[in-house]
Amino acid sequence: MQPCPLCGADGASLFHEDKRRCYLRCPQCALVYVPAVYHLAPDREKARYDLHRNDPADPAYRAFLRRLMDPLVARLPPGAYGLDYGSGPGPTLSRMLEERGYPTAIYDAFYAPDTSVLARHYDFLACSETMEHFARPGREWHRFLALVRPGGWIGIMTQFLEMDVDFSSWYYKNDDTHVAFYSRATFRFLARRDGLTVDFEGNSVALFRR
Ligand SMILES: [Zn+2]
Ligand SMILES: [Zn+2]
Repeated sequence: MQPCPLCGADGASLFHEDKRRCYLRCPQCALVYVPAVYHLAPDREKARYDLHRNDPADPAYRAFLRRLMDPLVARLPPGAYGLDYGSGPGPTLSRMLEERGYPTAIYDAFYAPDTSVLARHYDFLACSETMEHFARPGREWHRFLALVRPGGWIGIMTQFLEMDVDFSSWYYKNDDTHVAFYSRATFRFLARRDGLTVDFEGNSVALFRR
């Protein structure tokens, strides 16, 4: 069985199976993940993202992104410099942060693949609705740690897998580009292992201090 793509532990157990895929749960970090054999090929994955209408002018989309932006901004010193990792087909969070006075670079494996931005260090990194799409979240997480200076912030938004959710009918798993599901326990594990603090906002935002 494939080791956990986030923490590398072996011994995952079958968590759930539906018509299309199966889902494993890591015994160490509690990540629930879809084995690689079920992942979409990159061209099909991108075709799905091309359908996303992430319009920077859409007030509903902006309101959604404020769930991450507001608690993140509340923790930042004036003029902090950031990176929006997974900025998507219509970069919006970076614009909103810039409007608030925080210059923000963008990176996206499909839409903004200029890796020169990954050679810098940032006061903060924001990652909105992207973690659940990572095939290799452990690699991405280590990248986050390397990108953010000590004392800086990593703000993540992804729908938490709650203990009491009925997974079989959970909408979030039914998007076949979603392959990794995190609970608060998963984020606490990462914080403990890597010496960060973590705060939670609602049921979708985690804020780590490096
Ligand atoms: Zn794990
Ligand atoms: Zn998503």
